[in-house]
Amino acid sequence: VRRPGPGRGDDRGAPVIAAQALQAATEELVSSVVLPQVAQWDRDDVLPAAVLERIVELGIPGAMVPAQYGGAGRTVAELVPVWRVLSQGWISITGAVNPTGLATALLVRNGTERQRERWLPRLASGELLASFSITEPGAGSDIKRLRTTATRPADGGPGWVLDGEKRWVAGGVSSAVVFVMVRAQGSDRPSCLVLPADGRGEGAWTVDELDKIGYRGVESAAYRFAGHVAPGAELLGGDEAGLGAGARQMLGALDVGRVNVACRGLGIMDRALAVALGEARGREVGSGALGSHTHVQLRIGELRSRVMAVEALIARAAAAVDARADDAGEVAIAAKLAASEGAVWAVDQAARLAASRSYTADAELARLRRDAPQTQIGEGANDALLIALGRAGIAAGA
Ligand SMILES: Cc1cc2nc3c(=O)[nH]c(=O)nc-3n(C[C@H](O)[C@H](O)[C@H](O)COP(=O)(O)OP(=O)(O)OC[C@H]3O[C@@H](n4cnc5c(N)ncnc54)[C@H](O)[C@@H]3O)c2cc1C
Repeated sequence: VRRPGPGRGDDRGAPVIAAQALQAATEELVSSVVLPQVAQWDRDDVLPAAVLERIVELGIPGAMVPAQYGGAGRTVAELVPVWRVLSQGWISITGAVNPTGLATALLVRNGTERQRERWLPRLASGELLASFSITEPGAGSDIKRLRTTATRPADGGPGWVLDGEKRWVAGGVSSAVVFVMVRAQGSDRPSCLVLPADGRGEGAWTVDELDKIGYRGVESAAYRFAGHVAPGAELLGGDEAGLGAGARQMLGALDVGRVNVACRGLGIMDRALAVALGEARGREVGSGALGSHTHVQLRIGELRSRVMAVEALIARAAAAVDARADDAGEVAIAAKLAASEGAVWAVDQAARLAASRSYTADAELARLRRDAPQTQIGEGANDALLIALGRAGIAAGA
């Protein structure tokens, strides 16, 4: 994902598009630009800069930045239909905007006033995009195994010195700032470091891009820090409040990200259903249209009912996240689980109807088959989330 050129600057108070107009513009973009070209972009592994620029122009990445910092102050519930439609086009677009939403939640919930002033206006305008980095080669769901460290510079200068490795940093080749989980000097518990991208790609902070089977067009970076000196880096929330608070801060922000991932799953389910309906109506087999056969009606009935169920659960999760309700984390996990498992299942169901027509390299279902598992992994491996949900239920006597 390439960052759009120098942006519109600190344009606080810029007119905000009404939610309905944003929805209509997103639908137009997806139907007239994304869907006709996505097979080619997927093949080329590129999310074109012009598409990202349009997304930025619509204010989608920094949409949740509050008005006082120049943003539209949109709620998660308002963004759900936008993320869903983007995902009907390509989940890579929904994924590309997600880290900036996570960064917004992190700053709004945990940042110092100076940190909010430093970053939020430029995230709102789209001048800057952010990345969010927890995962390491040896640490995914299990953050106890986190190894990356941040120590104070030996010369007593400002900032932090980083050592370690990170994996799967979405947008992490060109983002302007990375919210990175580290073990910071002074605490055994993880902290969240706000790390400007200065010096990335040079000797002490090297970057590789991971090649992926799906979710293409999104930069997935692997970082290696070898004594990277970052004078501009600081702990989210400040030296005192931020030290050792990274797990609470970063895992907390994942409720927003899990709703985003759930919308990716739902968008895939929508498209699988659309393909299944096309087959049911357009294909003649046996005694008549494919859709005149009971087994096809059953499959489509089940697809429709699961789409409706996931849609309802995502709406519940978004409302809980917006209200900062006690159960927001769990409902967001449940929505992400239902939608991602639903996406993998729905593609398989549709492919049973499309059969060989799902198997050419350019077939939409072929891409969806490669894209859907990303939603089972991103923002937490589903098995790990199921265990967490189960444990919490048992502990609470649910
Ligand atoms: C396309 C893509 C984009 C991504 N983007 C980002 C990103 O932007 N930022 C980021 O930080 N990460 C990102 N990730 C990483 C993703 O969040 C992790 O892959 C995910 O959290 C799972 O971690 P893992 O792959 O290490 O699997 P693991 O956590 O190792 O899971 C593997 C298995 O181990 C089990 N397991 C895990 N912990 C335990 C335990 N304590 N006890 C018993 N069993 C356990 C799990 O249930 C699972 O079955 C991305 C991943 C992908 C594929």
